[in-house]
Amino acid sequence: MTRPEVGKPPSVLVDQFGRQHIDLRVSVTDRCNLRCTYCMPLDASFMSQQKLLSFEEVTRCVCVASEMGVRTIRLTGGEPLMRPDLKRLIEQLTRVPGIEEVALTTNGLLLADQVAGLAQAGLSRLNVSLDSLDESRFEKIARRSGLQRILEGLEEAVRQGFRSIRINAVSIRGLTEQEIVPLAVFCREHGFHLRFIEFMPLDAEDAWSRKHVLTGREVHQILEVHVGQLKRSESEDSGQPSVDYSYVDGHGIVGFINPVSQPFCDRCDRLRLTADGQFKNCLFSTTDWDARALLRDGGTDKDLGFLLAACVNAKHFSHGIGTESFERPSRAMYQIGG
Ligand code: SAM
Ligand code: SF4
Repeated sequence: MTRPEVGKPPSVLVDQFGRQHIDLRVSVTDRCNLRCTYCMPLDASFMSQQKLLSFEEVTRCVCVASEMGVRTIRLTGGEPLMRPDLKRLIEQLTRVPGIEEVALTTNGLLLADQVAGLAQAGLSRLNVSLDSLDESRFEKIARRSGLQRILEGLEEAVRQGFRSIRINAVSIRGLTEQEIVPLAVFCREHGFHLRFIEFMPLDAEDAWSRKHVLTGREVHQILEVHVGQLKRSESEDSGQPSVDYSYVDGHGIVGFINPVSQPFCDRCDRLRLTADGQFKNCLFSTTDWDARALLRDGGTDKDLGFLLAACVNAKHFSHGIGTESFERPSRAMYQIGG
């Protein structure tokens, strides 16, 4: 393989458009115990164990990224809680100098059993994906059962001291309209921060089309009519892609992540590391930067730093959804890490 340049890698990850990258999403597996229609095929096949980065390899990548200014790590998948002993990785990552927050995005099915260990390991924040509070509609979307276990997981997470838990719900026209109001009421009651995410062209079955995108604006209107008036509020975390609103009556916050109708590429500060060790500069990038090959071929931290810098330097200004030049990536969401 070719080794990148000589000299020193840059100390910050700034791309050609001046965006500094401080957030790294790390996928730890492509396996999952659900089969959400918008993410995974029913007959998914998975990466071999050998291809997955070990925890030590992930930690090495994070150490290098941290030296280049990365401050937050978000663990994802696939379903990250299916990776055995995930808490050991969390312990390692929280000890990396410069890393300020290690967060986890999970479907919550295994949370009740694992959340105490995650808290002990130093996990800073939890995002739980939940699209419906009705078991039969949950199963229609996730193509597996498990709603009750997710609710138990949320309860246990609160008991273990997690606060400001975010609930992520994907918005798909013709599929999720009925879920909006019950989810909003539930999250207001429990103090969860609900965020609606527009459906992106990353489903494995290639069913996405623009007409299936239920926009954040439409969801906002439904909430104002059926739940309560909203007013714009400052996001508690400026790095988040969501535009946040609070209910005028003071009970709760709701966020809208609108990558299709209102792309936020101009303030993107995110990079990704796939479970099989590829750096990516965008969910929609069709190019990978192969960290695993470097790690397993005797590459130095400096080589890894150059690889990361090259990945950032090649980042396009925008994902380009809806433009003629847009090309769907060959990997679906579960294979990249959302
Ligand atoms: N399994 C975990 C979970 O569901 O939270 C982590 C991985 S999942 C790929 C991360 C997030 O991506 C979830 O909130 C999920 O709803 C979202 N997601 C998956 N496919 C999507 C799509 N096509 N469009 C928008 N969001 C999607
Ligand atoms: Fe699994 Fe999460 Fe994808 Fe659903 S969204 S299939 S839970 S990885």
